Amino acid sequence: MQRDTQVFDLIRKELERQRHGIELIASENFTSAQVMEAMGNVMTNKYAEGYPGRRYYGGCEIVDQTEQLAIDRLKQIFNIEYANVQPHSGAQANAAVMLAILQPGDDILGLDLSMGGHLTHGSGVNFSGKLYKPHFYGVVKETGLVDYDMLEAKAREVKPKLIICGASAYSRDWDYARIRKVADEVGAFVMADIAHPAGLIAKGLLSDPFDHCHFVTSTTHKTLRGPRGGIIMMRKDFDNTLGLKDPKGNIRPMSNLIDLAVFPGTQGGPLEHVIAAKAVAFGEILSDEFTGYAQQVVKNAQAMAKSFVAKDYQIISGGTDNHLMLIDLRNKNISGKKAENVLGLADITANKNMVPFDDKSAFVTSGVRFGVAAITTRGMKEEHMEFVVNAIDKALTNPDNETLLAQLKGEVNNFMSQFVLYPEMG
Ligand SMILES: *Cc1c(COP(=O)(O)O)cnc(C)c1O
Repeated sequence: MQRDTQVFDLIRKELERQRHGIELIASENFTSAQVMEAMGNVMTNKYAEGYPGRRYYGGCEIVDQTEQLAIDRLKQIFNIEYANVQPHSGAQANAAVMLAILQPGDDILGLDLSMGGHLTHGSGVNFSGKLYKPHFYGVVKETGLVDYDMLEAKAREVKPKLIICGASAYSRDWDYARIRKVADEVGAFVMADIAHPAGLIAKGLLSDPFDHCHFVTSTTHKTLRGPRGGIIMMRKDFDNTLGLKDPKGNIRPMSNLIDLAVFPGTQGGPLEHVIAAKAVAFGEILSDEFTGYAQQVVKNAQAMAKSFVAKDYQIISGGTDNHLMLIDLRNKNISGKKAENVLGLADITANKNMVPFDDKSAFVTSGVRFGVAAITTRGMKEEHMEFVVNAIDKALTNPDNETLLAQLKGEVNNFMSQFVLYPEMG
């Protein structure tokens, strides 16, 4: 077969783009070279429906070992009894938990998308809002913090089967104990979706959700710095006292129901090459080096927030506990959409984002979201945050000055050349 230069040229261009720009999309990161090496491997050829030791295909004795290694390492990271590493994505992980414990039409309660929540927490355009009956809590307008009073009132009113906590654009820690208390009162399960802050939770830098939440889901590619994918976890497996049954009518422990909801419930064959890469990433997370990384992420986010505040940028909730921050740009007279475009011209990548109580549509928005997980992997420290914030401020305060933006792009590219990315790729 002839080498497909058309595609490989594009991959090369994407590498150069990643090298030259300041990556501030909060959901992105750079995996290690060995994670990518493990992902591009012969295990992509293997069908392995089922789980280690109980597969529907022959020849699984090797992939059984990589998948078991991924499971064991993940259990060690979070000190948990149960882990499923097969979900193809964070959305698939959430779909599987809901399939395992809910019936179509059941009530669910999650953080409103426009307040920082995620599509899979009940949005009308997503399976979660189509198959189940969604209800939402929000944040307090004055403080930007999760409105726990509202969450409790809604829970008592609609008695949901499932309460979902966790978010995509929320910079503060969560009070999992408080959510569990009202869940027990109304007979709901609690699922924490830690897709964003999982890497910080892994190192004890944020509250531990596992003792209070029945289920914890995550992506593996955000602060966990692994390959693109999802995971489902429980600290303790438990008998489902609600009498939930598997498709054959048997009452099963919850771990069993979750496994069945992933396969055959929502997926076919697992991506064993990606699971091998997850195992490598989990090994890295167990290292002291990753502890230093997670600590640096928090330090960088704090330093960045401080620089923004000094320039009169309005951070929702006034600051951050994790790796990201959401900024309301209304006092700067620029929309989120325009901000995203202008930053792009200077090779600074970020995404527009609705802010709580936004008066603009999801396509325009009043806000922008910044995260430091990726630039911290590049090697940036607190002292580099000032350059980043100055560059952002320069772009946003001169949105129509093409000469200035072109010059800024050069400065950004020059600045990034000191943080070498994937030297092994030439
Ligand atoms: C990113 C994210 C997801 C979805 O992850 P995908 O892998 O893109 O499907 C789910 N929940 C939250 C809170 C997220 O931020």
